[in-house]
Amino acid sequence: MKLSLVVPIYNEERSIERLYHTITKIAEQNQYHYELLLINDGSRDHSLAIIENLSFKDDRVKYLSFSRNFGKEAAMLAGLEAAGGDAAIILDADLQHPPELIPKLVAEYKAGFDQVVARRNRRGESMLRRLPTSLYYSLINRAVDVKLTDGEGDFRLLSRAVIDAILSLDEYNRFSKGIFDWVGFNKKTIEFDNVTRYDGKSSFSMFKLMDYAIDGILSYNNKPLRVCFYFGAFTLAVSLTYILVTLIQIIRSGIDEPGYFTIISAILFLGGVQLFSLGVIGEYIGKIYYETKKRPHYLVQHTNIEEKSDDA
Ligand code: UDP
Ligand code: MG
Repeated sequence: MKLSLVVPIYNEERSIERLYHTITKIAEQNQYHYELLLINDGSRDHSLAIIENLSFKDDRVKYLSFSRNFGKEAAMLAGLEAAGGDAAIILDADLQHPPELIPKLVAEYKAGFDQVVARRNRRGESMLRRLPTSLYYSLINRAVDVKLTDGEGDFRLLSRAVIDAILSLDEYNRFSKGIFDWVGFNKKTIEFDNVTRYDGKSSFSMFKLMDYAIDGILSYNNKPLRVCFYFGAFTLAVSLTYILVTLIQIIRSGIDEPGYFTIISAILFLGGVQLFSLGVIGEYIGKIYYETKKRPHYLVQHTNIEEKSDDA
């Protein structure tokens, strides 16, 4: 069997060589027939030079380099598209996805699993990061149709069947965690201890993670729209009842003292509900806008992979 190792890289000049050596050692020990696909996602440091250098020395190293930073999702997609193996393993460049687990993943693949997920437990992580994450997962699993599990990230092995299934989804807004679950196939999970970054710093800030969280909810279905609908309907019912009751009171006991408080709170409340709903609708329209443009997910500037010819 041939194995494709896919690594998205963004400003990882200090990790790449170490990653390369670790992977090479493990792959050679296990006598894998493999290719190492390094996807340079528009790094601003010397990552590309290091990658090119490795590819000169070792022809198992293939690389694609984007014209700018397109994001990790695009990099993973490019890697899977270029992968020529019977199975692919996606792993981070910063050694947070220990290459030592590769043999375990491959063993499960050989035992017949199509998706082998390496699940990271959150041992040793700060409460500040832990709490919002667990909140997010309990919330998102109620909101979306796919099942997302804490600690299950992009570190996983995918069989050829799964890769092809994933590549058949050509949506512009990609949310891999959801896509992996959506395609299905028989899945096996193995666990590993949380590792801290080898060097450099995470390129996902708190703000970026928030964005990612919202994308996750919106990519899956239109439940948020449904929530707005119920919210609107409920507000309407409450206001109608209130108006009716007040009207009856006015008819019964003459004109009542006009209530400043009720008027202002009604205006504010309705304004809030409307803006909220508008925001949700806007998000979906934004997504539709990007889908209709049909732009490519990424642009390749440098590569040592020959174009796959159509008649092959
Ligand atoms: N990455 C990427 N493009 C980006 C951001 C990150 O290809 O725009 C890569 C990065 O080089 C690393 C992996 O995605 O290999 C995970 O990134 P990072 O370690 O910053 O994220 P974290 O581990 O904090 O989730
Ligand atoms: Mg990392």
